[in-house]
Amino acid sequence: MLHIGCHLSSSKGSVAMAKQALALDADTFQYFTRNPRGSRAKEIDPKDVADYLAIAKEHRFAPVVAHAPYTLNACSAEPRTREFAQMAMADDLRRMEYTPGGLYNFHPGSHVGQGAETGIQLIASQLNQLLTPETSTTVLLETMAGKGTEVGRSFEELRAILDEVELSEKVGVCLDTCHVHDAGYDIVSNLDGVLTEFDRVIGLSRLKAIHLNDSMNPCGSRKDRHQKIGQGHIGLEAMERIINHPALRKLPFLLETPNELSGYAEEIRLLRSLYRE
Ligand code: FE
Ligand code: FE
Ligand code: ZN
Repeated sequence: MLHIGCHLSSSKGSVAMAKQALALDADTFQYFTRNPRGSRAKEIDPKDVADYLAIAKEHRFAPVVAHAPYTLNACSAEPRTREFAQMAMADDLRRMEYTPGGLYNFHPGSHVGQGAETGIQLIASQLNQLLTPETSTTVLLETMAGKGTEVGRSFEELRAILDEVELSEKVGVCLDTCHVHDAGYDIVSNLDGVLTEFDRVIGLSRLKAIHLNDSMNPCGSRKDRHQKIGQGHIGLEAMERIINHPALRKLPFLLETPNELSGYAEEIRLLRSLYRE
Protein backbone atom coordinates (compact mmCIF):
# COMPACT_ATOMS: atom_id res chain seq x y z
CA MET A 1 0.00 0.00 0.00
CA LEU A 2 1.17 3.50 -0.85
CA HIS A 3 1.73 5.57 2.30
CA ILE A 4 0.74 9.06 1.33
CA GLY A 5 -0.54 12.27 2.85
CA CYS A 6 -0.10 16.00 2.63
CA HIS A 7 0.74 19.05 4.63
CA LEU A 8 -2.13 20.02 6.96
CA SER A 9 -2.82 22.93 9.28
CA SER A 10 -2.25 22.05 12.93
CA SER A 11 -4.39 24.87 14.32
CA LYS A 12 -7.23 22.56 15.41
CA GLY A 13 -5.08 19.86 16.97
CA SER A 14 -4.01 16.31 16.18
CA VAL A 15 -7.43 14.64 16.05
CA ALA A 16 -8.61 17.23 13.51
CA MET A 17 -5.57 16.52 11.34
CA ALA A 18 -6.05 12.75 11.55
CA LYS A 19 -9.70 13.08 10.52
CA GLN A 20 -8.78 15.39 7.68
CA ALA A 21 -6.16 12.89 6.51
CA LEU A 22 -8.73 10.07 6.56
CA ALA A 23 -11.16 12.19 4.54
CA LEU A 24 -8.42 12.64 1.91
CA ASP A 25 -7.75 8.88 1.81
CA ALA A 26 -4.33 9.61 3.32
CA ASP A 27 -2.62 7.45 5.94
CA THR A 28 -0.07 10.03 7.03
CA PHE A 29 0.31 13.81 7.09
CA GLN A 30 2.73 16.58 7.86
CA TYR A 31 2.21 19.70 9.98
CA PHE A 32 4.18 22.67 11.28
CA THR A 33 5.07 22.41 14.94
CA ARG A 34 4.39 26.14 15.31
CA ASN A 35 3.62 29.23 13.30
CA PRO A 36 6.46 29.77 10.79
CA ARG A 37 6.80 33.41 11.83
CA GLY A 38 6.21 33.33 15.52
CA SER A 39 7.67 31.53 18.44
CA ARG A 40 4.42 30.50 20.04
CA ALA A 41 3.41 26.84 20.09
CA LYS A 42 0.22 25.53 21.59
CA GLU A 43 0.70 23.44 24.70
CA ILE A 44 -0.14 19.79 24.23
CA ASP A 45 -3.67 18.69 25.13
CA PRO A 46 -3.21 15.16 26.53
CA LYS A 47 -6.79 14.17 25.62
CA ASP A 48 -6.27 15.28 22.00
CA VAL A 49 -3.04 13.27 21.85
CA ALA A 50 -4.61 10.14 23.35
CA ASP A 51 -7.56 10.29 20.94
CA TYR A 52 -5.18 10.95 18.05
CA LEU A 53 -3.02 7.94 18.92
CA ALA A 54 -6.13 5.72 18.99
CA ILE A 55 -7.19 6.90 15.51
CA ALA A 56 -3.67 6.51 14.10
CA LYS A 57 -3.46 2.98 15.47
CA GLU A 58 -6.91 1.92 14.31
CA HIS A 59 -6.26 3.18 10.78
CA ARG A 60 -2.66 1.97 10.71
CA PHE A 61 -1.15 5.35 9.96
CA ALA A 62 2.32 5.45 8.48
CA PRO A 63 4.86 7.67 10.28
CA VAL A 64 3.66 11.28 10.49
CA VAL A 65 6.11 14.16 9.96
CA ALA A 66 6.35 17.24 12.17
CA HIS A 67 8.04 20.09 10.30
CA ALA A 68 10.01 22.76 12.16
CA PRO A 69 9.28 26.34 11.08
CA TYR A 70 11.30 26.98 7.94
CA THR A 71 12.31 30.36 9.35
CA LEU A 72 14.53 28.74 12.00
CA ASN A 73 18.18 29.04 11.15
CA ALA A 74 20.50 26.88 13.20
CA CYS A 75 23.54 28.20 11.30
CA SER A 76 22.83 31.92 11.31
CA ALA A 77 25.75 34.29 11.83
CA GLU A 78 23.67 35.94 14.59
CA PRO A 79 24.07 34.21 17.96
CA ARG A 80 20.54 35.31 18.99
CA THR A 81 19.01 33.76 15.88
CA ARG A 82 20.86 30.53 16.61
CA GLU A 83 19.69 30.62 20.23
CA PHE A 84 16.11 31.09 19.09
CA ALA A 85 16.41 28.11 16.74
CA GLN A 86 17.85 26.07 19.58
CA MET A 87 15.06 27.03 22.02
CA ALA A 88 12.28 26.38 19.50
CA MET A 89 13.70 23.00 18.51
CA ALA A 90 14.23 21.98 22.11
CA ASP A 91 10.60 22.85 22.86
CA ASP A 92 9.38 21.03 19.73
CA LEU A 93 11.33 17.91 20.66
CA ARG A 94 9.95 18.05 24.20
CA ARG A 95 6.37 18.24 22.94
CA MET A 96 7.00 15.48 20.39
CA GLU A 97 7.73 13.02 23.18
CA TYR A 98 3.94 12.92 23.78
CA THR A 99 3.87 10.88 20.54
CA PRO A 100 7.07 8.84 20.94
CA GLY A 101 9.04 7.59 17.97
CA GLY A 102 7.97 10.38 15.61
CA LEU A 103 9.77 12.16 12.80
CA TYR A 104 10.86 15.80 13.11
CA ASN A 105 11.98 17.42 9.86
CA PHE A 106 13.93 20.66 9.64
CA HIS A 107 15.77 22.75 7.06
CA PRO A 108 19.46 22.64 7.95
CA GLY A 109 19.62 26.40 7.44
CA SER A 110 21.45 29.12 5.53
CA HIS A 111 25.07 29.90 6.30
CA VAL A 112 24.57 33.52 5.18
CA GLY A 113 28.06 33.90 3.77
CA GLN A 114 29.97 32.13 6.53
CA GLY A 115 30.58 29.19 4.19
CA ALA A 116 29.08 25.71 4.13
CA GLU A 117 31.86 24.35 6.38
CA THR A 118 30.94 26.74 9.20
CA GLY A 119 27.24 26.15 8.59
CA ILE A 120 27.71 22.40 8.91
CA GLN A 121 29.61 22.81 12.20
CA LEU A 122 26.92 25.10 13.66
CA ILE A 123 24.07 22.77 12.67
CA ALA A 124 25.83 19.73 14.07
CA SER A 125 26.69 21.51 17.31
CA GLN A 126 23.03 22.49 17.73
CA LEU A 127 21.96 18.88 17.23
CA ASN A 128 24.61 17.75 19.69
CA GLN A 129 23.12 20.05 22.33
CA LEU A 130 19.54 18.91 21.64
CA LEU A 131 19.76 15.16 21.25
CA THR A 132 19.99 12.96 24.32
CA PRO A 133 20.02 9.17 24.65
CA GLU A 134 16.35 9.49 25.77
CA THR A 135 15.20 11.28 22.59
CA SER A 136 12.77 8.88 20.87
CA THR A 137 12.13 11.20 17.93
CA THR A 138 14.16 10.82 14.73
CA VAL A 139 15.31 14.23 13.53
CA LEU A 140 15.36 14.56 9.74
CA LEU A 141 17.59 16.83 7.71
CA GLU A 142 15.72 17.94 4.60
CA THR A 143 17.51 17.95 1.24
CA MET A 144 17.55 21.57 0.05
CA ALA A 145 17.36 23.23 -3.38
CA GLY A 146 20.46 25.34 -2.80
CA LYS A 147 18.89 28.75 -3.16
CA GLY A 148 20.90 31.53 -1.58
CA THR A 149 23.32 30.09 0.95
CA GLU A 150 21.26 27.05 1.93
CA VAL A 151 23.17 24.20 3.53
CA GLY A 152 22.07 20.71 2.44
CA ARG A 153 22.00 21.21 -1.32
CA SER A 154 24.23 18.18 -1.84
CA PHE A 155 24.22 14.73 -0.31
CA GLU A 156 27.82 15.39 0.76
CA GLU A 157 26.77 18.37 2.92
CA LEU A 158 24.13 16.28 4.69
CA ARG A 159 26.70 13.50 5.20
CA ALA A 160 29.10 16.03 6.71
CA ILE A 161 26.44 17.05 9.27
CA LEU A 162 25.72 13.41 10.13
CA ASP A 163 29.44 12.78 10.59
CA GLU A 164 29.64 15.53 13.23
CA VAL A 165 26.59 14.43 15.24
CA GLU A 166 27.42 12.27 18.23
CA LEU A 167 24.02 10.53 18.51
CA SER A 168 23.89 10.24 14.76
CA GLU A 169 21.57 7.20 14.87
CA LYS A 170 18.83 9.64 15.90
CA VAL A 171 19.24 11.65 12.70
CA GLY A 172 17.88 10.74 9.28
CA VAL A 173 17.08 12.43 5.99
CA CYS A 174 13.88 13.56 4.28
CA LEU A 175 14.25 13.79 0.50
CA ASP A 176 12.24 16.56 -1.16
CA THR A 177 11.81 15.74 -4.86
CA CYS A 178 11.45 19.40 -5.91
CA HIS A 179 14.51 20.37 -3.90
CA VAL A 180 16.88 17.64 -5.14
CA HIS A 181 15.72 18.26 -8.71
CA ASP A 182 16.31 22.01 -8.37
CA ALA A 183 19.67 21.29 -6.70
CA GLY A 184 20.75 19.46 -9.87
CA TYR A 185 20.01 15.79 -9.20
CA ASP A 186 18.33 14.43 -12.31
CA ILE A 187 15.56 12.31 -10.84
CA VAL A 188 13.64 12.52 -14.13
CA SER A 189 16.04 10.69 -16.44
CA ASN A 190 18.37 9.09 -13.90
CA LEU A 191 16.43 8.18 -10.73
CA ASP A 192 18.46 5.00 -10.24
CA GLY A 193 21.72 6.91 -10.52
CA VAL A 194 20.61 9.56 -8.01
CA LEU A 195 19.49 6.94 -5.48
CA THR A 196 22.72 4.99 -5.95
CA GLU A 197 24.57 8.21 -5.21
CA PHE A 198 22.38 8.85 -2.15
CA ASP A 199 23.15 5.34 -0.92
CA ARG A 200 26.90 5.72 -1.50
CA VAL A 201 27.15 9.11 0.23
CA ILE A 202 24.48 9.00 2.95
CA GLY A 203 23.08 5.45 3.00
CA LEU A 204 19.50 4.60 2.04
CA SER A 205 18.85 3.34 5.58
CA ARG A 206 18.91 7.01 6.67
CA LEU A 207 16.07 7.93 4.34
CA LYS A 208 12.84 8.13 6.39
CA ALA A 209 10.39 10.23 4.37
CA ILE A 210 9.82 11.80 0.95
CA HIS A 211 8.39 15.24 0.23
CA LEU A 212 6.64 14.61 -3.08
CA ASN A 213 6.48 17.83 -5.07
CA ASP A 214 6.75 18.71 -8.72
CA SER A 215 8.93 21.70 -9.62
CA MET A 216 8.14 24.90 -11.50
CA ASN A 217 11.75 25.12 -12.66
CA PRO A 218 14.29 23.01 -14.57
CA CYS A 219 16.78 20.65 -12.96
CA GLY A 220 19.65 22.59 -11.41
CA SER A 221 17.76 25.90 -11.23
CA ARG A 222 18.25 26.21 -7.44
CA LYS A 223 14.86 27.85 -7.16
CA ASP A 224 12.56 25.81 -4.82
CA ARG A 225 9.13 26.60 -6.28
CA HIS A 226 6.81 23.64 -5.76
CA GLN A 227 4.31 22.67 -8.47
CA LYS A 228 1.30 20.37 -8.55
CA ILE A 229 2.03 16.71 -9.27
CA GLY A 230 2.49 16.15 -13.01
CA GLN A 231 2.33 19.84 -13.91
CA GLY A 232 5.99 20.77 -13.53
CA HIS A 233 9.45 19.90 -14.81
CA ILE A 234 9.49 16.56 -12.99
CA GLY A 235 6.28 15.31 -14.57
CA LEU A 236 3.88 12.47 -13.92
CA GLU A 237 5.94 9.64 -15.43
CA ALA A 238 8.86 10.43 -13.14
CA MET A 239 6.45 10.66 -10.18
CA GLU A 240 5.16 7.19 -11.03
CA ARG A 241 8.73 5.85 -11.07
CA ILE A 242 9.50 7.57 -7.76
CA ILE A 243 6.55 6.16 -5.78
CA ASN A 244 7.17 2.68 -7.19
CA HIS A 245 10.96 2.60 -6.85
CA PRO A 246 12.06 -0.39 -4.72
CA ALA A 247 14.23 1.88 -2.54
CA LEU A 248 11.40 4.34 -1.87
CA ARG A 249 8.03 2.61 -2.22
CA LYS A 250 7.55 1.76 1.46
CA LEU A 251 8.38 5.24 2.77
CA PRO A 252 5.78 7.86 3.73
CA PHE A 253 5.21 10.34 0.86
CA LEU A 254 4.09 13.83 1.87
CA LEU A 255 2.66 16.28 -0.65
CA GLU A 256 3.63 19.95 -0.26
CA THR A 257 2.14 21.01 -3.55
CA PRO A 258 0.25 24.30 -4.04
CA ASN A 259 -3.24 22.92 -3.35
CA GLU A 260 -6.38 23.28 -1.32
CA LEU A 261 -7.66 20.12 0.35
CA SER A 262 -9.67 19.11 -2.73
CA GLY A 263 -6.51 19.33 -4.86
CA TYR A 264 -4.66 17.14 -2.39
CA ALA A 265 -7.48 14.58 -2.48
CA GLU A 266 -7.19 14.47 -6.25
CA GLU A 267 -3.40 14.05 -6.20
CA ILE A 268 -3.68 11.29 -3.60
CA ARG A 269 -6.26 9.50 -5.75
CA LEU A 270 -4.05 9.88 -8.85
CA LEU A 271 -0.91 8.62 -7.13
CA ARG A 272 -2.73 5.67 -5.56
CA SER A 273 -3.92 4.70 -9.05
CA LEU A 274 -0.29 4.73 -10.29
CA TYR A 275 1.06 2.61 -7.42
CA ARG A 276 1.76 -1.03 -8.20
CA GLU A 277 0.64 -3.19 -5.25
FE1 FE B 1 10.57 21.75 4.17
FE1 FE C 1 9.91 19.94 1.59
ZN1 ZN D 1 10.50 23.69 -0.79
